[in-house]
Amino acid sequence: MQEFNVDFHIHSKYSGGTSGKMELPVIAKQAELKGLHLVGTGDATNPDWLRHMKTILSEESSGVYSFSRGETRFIVTSEVEDNKRVHHLIIFPSISAAESLHEMLLRHSNDIMREGRPHLRINGEELVDYARDVDALVGPAHVFTPWTALYKEYDSLGECYGDNLGEIKFVELGLSADTYMADRIRELRDLTFMSNSDTHSPWPHRLGREFNRISLKSLCFDEVKRSLTNVGGRGVVLNVGLNPREGKYHLTACTRCFMKFRLTDAVELKWRCPECRGLIKKGVSDRINELASGDKPKHPVHRPPYIHILPLAEVISLVSGISTLTSKKINDRWSSLVECLGTEINILVDSDISEVKKVDLEVGKVIEKFRSGRMRYVAGGGGQYGKPTLKEEEDNFYGRGQRHIGDF
Ligand SMILES: [Zn+2]
Ligand SMILES: [Zn+2]
Repeated sequence: MQEFNVDFHIHSKYSGGTSGKMELPVIAKQAELKGLHLVGTGDATNPDWLRHMKTILSEESSGVYSFSRGETRFIVTSEVEDNKRVHHLIIFPSISAAESLHEMLLRHSNDIMREGRPHLRINGEELVDYARDVDALVGPAHVFTPWTALYKEYDSLGECYGDNLGEIKFVELGLSADTYMADRIRELRDLTFMSNSDTHSPWPHRLGREFNRISLKSLCFDEVKRSLTNVGGRGVVLNVGLNPREGKYHLTACTRCFMKFRLTDAVELKWRCPECRGLIKKGVSDRINELASGDKPKHPVHRPPYIHILPLAEVISLVSGISTLTSKKINDRWSSLVECLGTEINILVDSDISEVKKVDLEVGKVIEKFRSGRMRYVAGGGGQYGKPTLKEEEDNFYGRGQRHIGDF
């Protein structure tokens, strides 16, 4: 078996609110620096993006593509929005399968010709019917978030996927949740958890900010499918992502002024902020409390560890006090670390911490801190990202220490 770092969920420049730099050559280069081996193309039902893919990618092995002998491999993926504003992630066996699905969905969408993440007039169950026709896999994207996810609309997966529930093999946790939260929900325990970036820009503090480490025999679609369904010893062996407190929708909060509320208070206030009259949105943490069958997670045997990281640029920002993550100073320090120690993922997750400290003591100390679960955060909510902090200003709505790989 071999292990690969994979980010299945990104968006191209054809999705709303994305960077114009989201083109495959840039993504391939940045993924290599990050340490991702396989990246979802995203937006594979969009005709312009499909054309871009066909022009510059060549098929390496069945369903896995590369860009001019670079290290990065691509697998064909997309995200669509159904008639209830629920987002689904689709993983295709080939570019031609994505083209076929595009054809089938044409009559169910007004914007599939121009939008990277199209709006469809069909429900989740019907989407799986179409995906099955092209042998693609479907699962809910960022399953807990309050605007466009399955659990904002339904109390169970079955209400969304109906008779096709049996075909759902994975759920994407989203930035505001992790395995410790999601394994409190009984119906999710048999499923594979995915941690993906959902990035709108190619830079390594976004691309692969969450990723999966999968174990399989060789890099091709069938093997990726086996790893997502735990067949014959293949599987996701590690989920890696932000602390859920960093997510934009972790706590219940006002969408205008970002003031945070306890769920009971939000209900009493009828979801209107007393400060600014803005709309209060239910946080992922409170939504999971409603859906959970107990206070503690029950991890199934197949569940891999979930480890929390901070993007390296964010670590450098913390120790340097420079807030713009794309600034030259942060980028220079980032580059010298990556030049000395290999990829960003190697630095954050795998490297010997004493080696990191030798190159950059301050950065090494912060990495050591989050690796041992001692990092503090100010939680996000209402659409505002949470943030790590070296001060004592942590708020204690959600205070659970990180467990180590060895605790499982
Ligand atoms: Zn989405
Ligand atoms: Zn407000």
